[in-house]
Amino acid sequence: MAEWTPSEKEEAYFLKQEAERRLAACEAAKKAMEERERQRLKQTHWMRCPKCGMELEEVEFRGVQVDHCFSCGGMFFDRGEVEKILEQKDPRAVRTLIGTLFGVGKTID
Ligand SMILES: [Zn+2]
Repeated sequence: MAEWTPSEKEEAYFLKQEAERRLAACEAAKKAMEERERQRLKQTHWMRCPKCGMELEEVEFRGVQVDHCFSCGGMFFDRGEVEKILEQKDPRAVRTLIGTLFGVGKTID
């Protein structure tokens, strides 16, 4: 195979640079698309029941704001909310929470 001339080397260098620029632009476009999709999913599912799709409402449960679905009775806890309820001294709070988590009771106590 013949040696590349200086102008061929220069051309190859610029082609490689152009390919890298286009690859970087494509990666940026992919990231932007993923972010738009993430935002769309968040908007679609925000405060919607993961079981039945109805809107969740915030209710106070033993002094903690939790998300409750009045359609299917589901109760959903954000990070740290279960711990806050379990820290309560009142044993009824723990019993009610366990009942709620395992579907023993349907009421918000
Ligand atoms: Zn539901």
